[in-house]
Amino acid sequence: MGKVLIIGAGGVGTVVAHKMASIPEVFSEIMLASRTKSKCDAIAEKIGGNRIQTAQIDADNVPELIELINHYKPDLVVNVALPYQDLTIMDACLETGVSYLDTANYEPKEEAKFEYKWQWAYQEKFKEAGLTAILGCGFDPGVTSIFTAYAAKHHFDELHYLDIVDCNAGDHGKPFATNFNPEINIREVTQKGKYWENGVWKLTEPHEIHKPLNYPEIGPKESYLIYHEELESLVKNFPTLKRARFWMTFGQEYLTHLRVIQNIGMAGIEPVQFKGMDIIPIEFLKAVLPNPGDLGENYKGQTSIGCRIKGLKDGKEKTYYIYNNCDHEDAYKETGTQAVSYTTGVPATIGAMMFLKGLWKQPGVFNVEEFNPDPFLEELNKRGLPWHEQHDVDLEL
Ligand code: NDP
Repeated sequence: MGKVLIIGAGGVGTVVAHKMASIPEVFSEIMLASRTKSKCDAIAEKIGGNRIQTAQIDADNVPELIELINHYKPDLVVNVALPYQDLTIMDACLETGVSYLDTANYEPKEEAKFEYKWQWAYQEKFKEAGLTAILGCGFDPGVTSIFTAYAAKHHFDELHYLDIVDCNAGDHGKPFATNFNPEINIREVTQKGKYWENGVWKLTEPHEIHKPLNYPEIGPKESYLIYHEELESLVKNFPTLKRARFWMTFGQEYLTHLRVIQNIGMAGIEPVQFKGMDIIPIEFLKAVLPNPGDLGENYKGQTSIGCRIKGLKDGKEKTYYIYNNCDHEDAYKETGTQAVSYTTGVPATIGAMMFLKGLWKQPGVFNVEEFNPDPFLEELNKRGLPWHEQHDVDLEL
């Protein structure tokens, strides 16, 4: 049916390549390109059957991207490199007339700040070119946004309160590791907290607001209010929301390490001089921390991510919880990666499938909640991430 170019051969790229390779009726040709070609080759070899072609690419370099895209001629580019590459890849897609999908919004390297404004600014260009850009198609953002759209479509007349709850109750056996790219992860979780209430953004100190929440099949876990990128598009696309927040669980060990890392300056993004060289502390830290893609082998336990929603249906107040639990060991058995990479890579694959099947194919730049959630969630059930619903329950929030 279609030809895809995956950019980025980390934990998420590994899952996307595995999943796409297992659905040949949709993904008839696949190329995996990344900065380090040997990583692409290792993934392709593991998948076998000559299903995956590989290439070297520096995705910060637009002319290089254009050359690769023109040479391979994909129907869609799936960007699972880093958020820093979003704009260069979107530029190359526009130049070559190819549609685009990613899982994380653009973030300038020199400023730990993520916002949709840079990518939303491409709206007219993609529209005029008749191309689709699908933004944020991982789990969060991604499935959480689609869960919200599904709730709005099927269960509510008005959404009022949205709490996205993200629990990782897994144990990888390491004193400290991040579950996806350490640089991006640490930049995200050390930011100030931020949530939407009554039409304005409210700021909190990092991890200032927290409380234990009960997660299905897991039990109570301390959950911290942090800012997460999907809140920005969700409050825009669901304007009846009076409040929208995001909660993530962290263990005490993780928070202690994080505090030390910050206090000693290792989370810094400004260059420091070391032996005559400029070194960015957080980039050096990434080099010494465990590779998130390699955590899978000893990872045990589950993730549980979902949306807790309160709103109105037929004039009455209603509560609703929609979630998925994913087991680290099952994810590892299937793809050789842990559940955080898995829960990101599977939705990216399904988003690409929605595009190739023509179900999510419109000119312009879209956040995933703007598309029909039904065919996506039907596939999610079949492709390793079954989801569950609870109606009229205590949301704890
Ligand atoms: P990794 O660090 O494991 O992988 C990133 C990959 O991108 C690496 O293979 C890296 O190459 C490659 N890369 C980096 N810079 C370039 C470049 N300039 N040119 C070409 N390739 C490059 O990250 P993850 O797989 O954990 O995460 C991938 C993306 O998924 C990130 O954007 C992350 O924010 C997002 N994500 C989204 C989630 C969601 O739910 N929406 C959840 C988790 C992650 P090299 O191997 O040479 O370093």
